[in-house]
Amino acid sequence: MMFKKKDKGKRLRKWLFILFCLLVIIPSSWVLYTKLEGEKPVIELTLQSWVVPAVFEVTGFVDDEKSGIKKLWISLLQNGKETILLDEDYSTRGFLQKGTVTRVPIKFNVDAKKMNLSDGAAKLRIAAWDYTWRDWWKGNRSYFEKDIILDTKPPVLSVLSKQHNVANGGSGLVIYKLSEPCSQSGVFVGDEFFPGHSGYYDDQDIHLAFFAIPFDYDKNTDIFIKAFDLAGNHSRSGFYYYIINKKFISDTINISDNFLNWKLPEFQTVDGFPSDKSSKDKFVFINKELRKRNNQSILDNGKKTDSQIFWNNAFGRLPNSARRANFADHRVYKYNGQIVSNAVHMGIDLASVKHAEVPVANRGKVVFLGPVGIYGNLVCIDHGCGLMSIYAHLSRMSVNIDDLVAKGDIIGYTGTSGLAGGDHLHFGMFIDHVFVNPVEWWDASWITNNINGKLETVQSMVQ
Ligand SMILES: [Zn+2]
Repeated sequence: MMFKKKDKGKRLRKWLFILFCLLVIIPSSWVLYTKLEGEKPVIELTLQSWVVPAVFEVTGFVDDEKSGIKKLWISLLQNGKETILLDEDYSTRGFLQKGTVTRVPIKFNVDAKKMNLSDGAAKLRIAAWDYTWRDWWKGNRSYFEKDIILDTKPPVLSVLSKQHNVANGGSGLVIYKLSEPCSQSGVFVGDEFFPGHSGYYDDQDIHLAFFAIPFDYDKNTDIFIKAFDLAGNHSRSGFYYYIINKKFISDTINISDNFLNWKLPEFQTVDGFPSDKSSKDKFVFINKELRKRNNQSILDNGKKTDSQIFWNNAFGRLPNSARRANFADHRVYKYNGQIVSNAVHMGIDLASVKHAEVPVANRGKVVFLGPVGIYGNLVCIDHGCGLMSIYAHLSRMSVNIDDLVAKGDIIGYTGTSGLAGGDHLHFGMFIDHVFVNPVEWWDASWITNNINGKLETVQSMVQ
């Protein structure tokens, strides 16, 4: 009997334990792991910039995988006034269930004028809660705020320089002041953009933009200054200019078999070289396709420019040299008496003695040196604010990348590398990404009238 009684008591305890588990431990573990989980909703927010315009977009999402999202609240706080942008509750299927929504995409526009917001600092505030029972059934809360600046007004653009008489193929300088910091500003000549640079004057809002009028300028081209502020508001301003119509000459070059036999082997390894075609076709490929590619790779160096002016006074030219070809000469190439190709010569050819020393035209920084197809060995010097000079067909180069060179420093020796038929220097200049006529830059009075005079006039205005 005693034995049986003991056995009965043991069984009861076992059942009580199971009952306890069923009624207390399992539900409370479930509550602990599901309804009291501690993972907060994840908030991710994107704005195009922390400085925003009159109408701006807020995008992002809120994520809560485990319990689902209960509530999302977004506001803009400015000068103590809170404007609610979004206040949304999300459903659940029941008290013990998680929320029906685990991810809410955020995408809406804020219209500052409609909401009576004013320019200046504001705080974008976001809070999200999930369907846990934490914080007395309120749920886990995530909070996120972002300081923004509301800027609804476009920058004011004031042109400080006066006369802008520019020849086609020539260079110009315009000086302007912006009313606020801008992400981008500069001169547009049609679709060609020439960025402005600040730093020349103490006032960082004053910008210099060197620009080029293409040699084949069309008089219907729009020329203007455009500026984008940090919020993306932009303004546009015209400036007084007069385009001097410059004519360029045409020239015929006869291509001989001797020349082709000498030059063609150098180009065998070029991408797309028509190895199986005739010498004439090979020449046409080099003169047209490769020339285009090479010009592009030279002009790409414009992006490396520094925002300071390295040079001063007139640029120098190869000493004791004769000019063999001009800027923007239209060249017609004949082979066996027939026209086979044409090109525009984007520099000036200067011939001196064989392997003559090549002095740098003005103070600057070496931004490129190496072979460039038809141009052979080439050195590219940055003179600052987008102005660059190139020295091509060199037999030898005697500078290193990033060297600061003074006017007259020897950067190499003339030669026949590339598509040169005889020892000479091909000297070229460009602004940002457009070749310009170097003759202007050799001319001290042109520099005084068009560049230095302007820089000084503005200097005296801002003092
Ligand atoms: Zn040349």
